[in-house]
Amino acid sequence: DSEGTATGENIKQPEPTVTASVDSSQTEHKIRIGFSMDTLLEERWLKDRDLFREACEALGAEVEIIAANGDDAKQISQAEALISEGVDILVVVPHNADATAAIVKKAHSAGIKVLAYDRLIKNADVDLYVSFDNEAVGELQAKAITKLVPKGKFVYIGGADTDNNAHLFKQGVFNVLQPFIDRGDITVVYDQWTKDWTPVNALANMKDALLANGNKIDAVIAANDATAGGVVEALAGQGLAGKLPVAGQDAELAAAQRIVEGTQTMTVYKPIKLLADKAAELAVKLAKGEDTGADRTVNNGKIEVPSVLLSPIAVDKSNINETIIADGFHSREDVYKNV
Ligand code: BGC
Repeated sequence: DSEGTATGENIKQPEPTVTASVDSSQTEHKIRIGFSMDTLLEERWLKDRDLFREACEALGAEVEIIAANGDDAKQISQAEALISEGVDILVVVPHNADATAAIVKKAHSAGIKVLAYDRLIKNADVDLYVSFDNEAVGELQAKAITKLVPKGKFVYIGGADTDNNAHLFKQGVFNVLQPFIDRGDITVVYDQWTKDWTPVNALANMKDALLANGNKIDAVIAANDATAGGVVEALAGQGLAGKLPVAGQDAELAAAQRIVEGTQTMTVYKPIKLLADKAAELAVKLAKGEDTGADRTVNNGKIEVPSVLLSPIAVDKSNINETIIADGFHSREDVYKNV
């Protein structure tokens, strides 16, 4: 009996340990992700916000989302607030590729890693870059347009100079155009950045392009659908909408509608859910110190940043149904609303 009691005591003793370990698993640290966004004033970024939140929550992580709406100083102070709140990882969509290097420095000195989402942060020790292949975006645009117009006067309406993607998109466009330019078949008669990517700035640029060339333009490549909207408006002002090819990017609803109506030729569709899911998954891995399996790198002026780049898809009238509509990115009803 005394042995039994002793055994009983021995059996009892481990109990608190068992209980303690159950407790510690229940209170296991929930990964907290800070998502610092440039802007929520454009259609695509609302999708990014919602899909990223869903993806984080599905992984059992908590996410705090904040947007600076194009204000560099604000984006930095918002990121600082997330850092001092003690997030485990910072995910950043930079408004300004250079200015946001300050965020990386501050995060690192607090032991927090930084994932650049969609847009690269330059000249900083960025831990991971998750985006689409942005040079391929420009290549898809120029391939589609040169197929229709292999000779003539081209206009390039670029994105915001402060966004590294704008440079990659342009690089991709000129990768394809250069042989045509070298042969003397294509002349780029106008090539401008669009401050902050706004349709109103793109409209002003396109008006300039038309004026400078006496309306004699054969094709327009715009860096995204917002700027393509400005381009089409300027063309419409001269009775030219639908008379020459226009390329854009993002598969925004308005662009999808213009494509079925015939005033925009193509867009580049980037399935945002794939980006949001991948970024959330890898943010959690980074926060836990696990390997992200990034299989390539992109140079940001300081380092080769480990990167994951997804594939963009060219969309025109012929495949709009089996791409953006089939994916539920937009409903058929919305896309064909005006035709
Ligand atoms: C994104 C585009 C977007 C643009 C303007 C770029 O960095 O990759 O999808 O249209 O920013 O917000």
